[in-house]
Amino acid sequence: MTDYILISYLNDFIFCPKSIYFHKLYGLKSSYLYNDTFQSEGKAVHETIDNKKYSSKKNVLQGIDVYCEKYNLCGKIDIFDIDKCLLTERKKHISTIYDGYIFQLYAQYYSLLEMGYKVNKIQLYSFDTNKAYPILLPDEDINMKNKFENLIEQINNFDINSIINTNINKCMRCIYNNLCDQTQC
Ligand code: SF4
Repeated sequence: MTDYILISYLNDFIFCPKSIYFHKLYGLKSSYLYNDTFQSEGKAVHETIDNKKYSSKKNVLQGIDVYCEKYNLCGKIDIFDIDKCLLTERKKHISTIYDGYIFQLYAQYYSLLEMGYKVNKIQLYSFDTNKAYPILLPDEDINMKNKFENLIEQINNFDINSIINTNINKCMRCIYNNLCDQTQC
């Protein structure tokens, strides 16, 4: 792949590399064609941000488009409090902090740095439980930073024709399982 990597792909690629192919295929169509209930609920959480209703404070950036040249990433940040130098990524519900969640934060973090913002703290926020989860910055967690960079490399070098050892339980939960020939294996 030589296109930009959407920040949202980072978590999805970990779930299944092949799902990125379907994201691209359906990228220009209505999301109602392929969003399941859980995703729609999660999406609703972000609609407040995307509609810029979360806060009217000028020192809070919400849902703005960002780009990171270093890693060739693009997407949106969730919430960035400029005064607090605090970046937050909200999820509908967090029961486990998956690596993909952290990598999405990293992508937003690096994008903001390139835009000249100072980011001192990053965190995940669980909407359902009203709980925040502070995350170490990449340079404070070199192991995770290396994993993040390895993931970017994997996405850049991914070949859709490569054989993927999928987990049938994952496929059963995947919104693309009716479209994907992998489920026929
Ligand atoms: S159905 Fe399975 S193999 Fe196909 S995209 Fe979904 S998780 Fe991946």
